[in-house]
Amino acid sequence: MTFTFVTLFENLVSPYFEDSILKRALQSGKIKIDFKNPRDYTDNKHNKVDNYQAGGGAGLLMFPQPLSALLDELKRDNPNVHIIFPAPAGKPFRQIDAKRLAKKEHIVFVSGRYEGIDERVIEEYGDEVFSIGDYVLTGGELASLVMSDAISRNIKGVLGNEDSLDEESFEDGTLEAPSFTKPNIFKGSSIPSEFLKGNHAIICTLKKEMSGLKTKYFRPDLFLRNKGQ
Ligand code: SAM
Repeated sequence: MTFTFVTLFENLVSPYFEDSILKRALQSGKIKIDFKNPRDYTDNKHNKVDNYQAGGGAGLLMFPQPLSALLDELKRDNPNVHIIFPAPAGKPFRQIDAKRLAKKEHIVFVSGRYEGIDERVIEEYGDEVFSIGDYVLTGGELASLVMSDAISRNIKGVLGNEDSLDEESFEDGTLEAPSFTKPNIFKGSSIPSEFLKGNHAIICTLKKEMSGLKTKYFRPDLFLRNKGQ
């Protein structure tokens, strides 16, 4: 999988890949990353990438020309690129999307800055538009990192223990059951006694029950969605 980050601020993105699981994924060739700066594609004297909003409105917008030139080049080089625009107005990014997108060959994340990107660019080039939550960030870099991280861990060979993927939150529409490790008693609170007895069938039933209760308590929206299925 190749991730191309289209951003005015490469340094906001690149350090994330310098440690831990994604560093190893890069080293082993499971993922590749590269960066494209819209400023390198401008055809104006001062390499401007933003302008006032048509019809008025606070703040500046990224205008089409540099992004269009950049994305045309990427598509020429690889017609199979899958282009994603992070945006507050996008559909919510979910685990099911992370799993689906992990099968792509080359994903391009186009980070907006200022008040965002001229809508016509998104319509022309966007294969998908995703929001990572109901709040407004200063730019798309964090959202692109969030998505590329979630996608990467679903690529075969990126995680050390792939079994952990099956038991995680959202896999079956619920949150993962509470997890515990040593010590058996921490500040007076004990690990559920069945977890210490080693009967896997009982532990499994208990975890399922706790997962349901946790989902109902923390994410009633998920709980109701599952009930409706
Ligand atoms: N004016 C836009 C609006 O109200 O919808 C907000 C633009 S925001 C300040 C600048 C950029 O940050 C966006 O173009 C997008 O790339 C990114 N962004 C901000 N919030 C986001 C979110 N919740 N999910 C994904 N991307 C987001």
